[in-house]
Amino acid sequence: MSYLESLGRFSPRINITYRCQLFSFCEYCYAKNELRNYPNDMRIEDFSKIITWFKDLFSIKIVTFLGGESTVHPQLASFFEILRERNINSFLFTNGCFDESKRKIILDSPSVTTMIFHYEPSFLREKSLRNKFFDNLEKLSKSKEIVFRFNTSNPSFEFKELIELSDRYNASIAYSFTSPSLNNPGNYYVRIEEMKRFVPQLIKFIETAYSQGIKVFSKRPLPLCIFSEDELSLMKEKSGLRSICCIGSITVNPDLSLIPAPTLTTIKTDPIKSKKDLADRVKELSEKVERLKWAELSIEKCGECKFFKNRECQGACTAYKLI
Ligand code: SF4
Ligand code: SF4
Repeated sequence: MSYLESLGRFSPRINITYRCQLFSFCEYCYAKNELRNYPNDMRIEDFSKIITWFKDLFSIKIVTFLGGESTVHPQLASFFEILRERNINSFLFTNGCFDESKRKIILDSPSVTTMIFHYEPSFLREKSLRNKFFDNLEKLSKSKEIVFRFNTSNPSFEFKELIELSDRYNASIAYSFTSPSLNNPGNYYVRIEEMKRFVPQLIKFIETAYSQGIKVFSKRPLPLCIFSEDELSLMKEKSGLRSICCIGSITVNPDLSLIPAPTLTTIKTDPIKSKKDLADRVKELSEKVERLKWAELSIEKCGECKFFKNRECQGACTAYKLI
């Protein structure tokens, strides 16, 4: 199953570590703040336990490794091996700047089917990181599906290289605008009222990708009111436009506590202790987020909005309801 086909199906996202070697580059990163709460990496025996429970309860076929940067975990190969034994595939989010030994582990692991490369111009300007990123991309693209993950705070964001790379590696693109960090409310994020300014460039980006047969989709929900009627039709026709989120997933922290989504760090459970505990907490979190989405307004005008009343738009990422 490709990354795009998997969206909306239940599949756990696992943070085996919140560490990353590139914290100084990504201003919007939520992982660097979470590292204070989860200084230890996930233990391999805990991963094995929770994967077994997920498989028993939900017959999962795919796991997504999120992070932090999973490749810094010293037992990376063992995680992939556990999945292979259980016949589960995985999608690996990465900054792409790992060394050759980690690349070999990934290449040797058939359970890793998809690499989601974080495309961040700030670290790609560093020659040594850029070389590693492109070397890994080139070699991994021969046997893995490639997706680029792009997050921006800039209304005039550049996309020329991203399109060229996607064309070259037959990749799709998941994009978003910088969302609030609940664990660090001082972090910069794009306010809903500012998102309209992104639309002209976003339309150019979508049109360019579409004309080259590149699939592009919004990773986080976008407010429908930022688009005119014509723009909305274009976005629906030519991109995967999402205006509702948090469907079908759950995120596991290194200590086995759960959060509903990576941005919703303040809605968390205690560490999971048993299969029944997992079933109960997943249900509880899903119900909580579903209530939150439609009970709280992100901005005042959502209260009078037909898209909100019809449950077609929840008012951007759920994190906007909690800041
Ligand atoms: S690469 Fe990912 S985990 Fe690392 S600093 Fe950037 S956003 Fe955070
Ligand atoms: S629900 Fe809120 S954010 Fe969504 S379209 Fe309506 S006013 Fe805009």
